[in-house]
Amino acid sequence: MGYSKEIRQRARCLHCGDEIKYGRADKKFCCDDCRALHHNDALKESRAFRRRVLSRLAYNHDLLERLLDAGTESFSLLELASHGFTPDLMTSCRKVGKHMECSCFEIKYIMTASRIYSISKIQNVSLNLQNCNK
Ligand SMILES: [Zn+2]
Repeated sequence: MGYSKEIRQRARCLHCGDEIKYGRADKKFCCDDCRALHHNDALKESRAFRRRVLSRLAYNHDLLERLLDAGTESFSLLELASHGFTPDLMTSCRKVGKHMECSCFEIKYIMTASRIYSISKIQNVSLNLQNCNK
């Protein structure tokens, strides 16, 4: 592998930004500590993202459950969004006929561009979970 002087002069550590003064031309970090810290940061970022998504899913679930408890079968997506619902987050979504049937954990609903309707609880959730493990 070539050690192009031009590339080595421009190479900067992805973590601290210091110039990489030695090693292969495609080296990404100036030292092992920077490599480890960079990967730890990436892991933290990934975990934080998952926490945010799970938190929003839980919030969506709570809103859907409140609609179910109130006996609501159809609701405006715009109004739901104004209460903090995130329509593009769901635990599953599939096309059923002409409709998109989505679910947020054990609550399923049909979603159009403007409404959700046919909100109901999925029966035999434990059976569905067994199928997920396959
Ligand atoms: Zn560094």
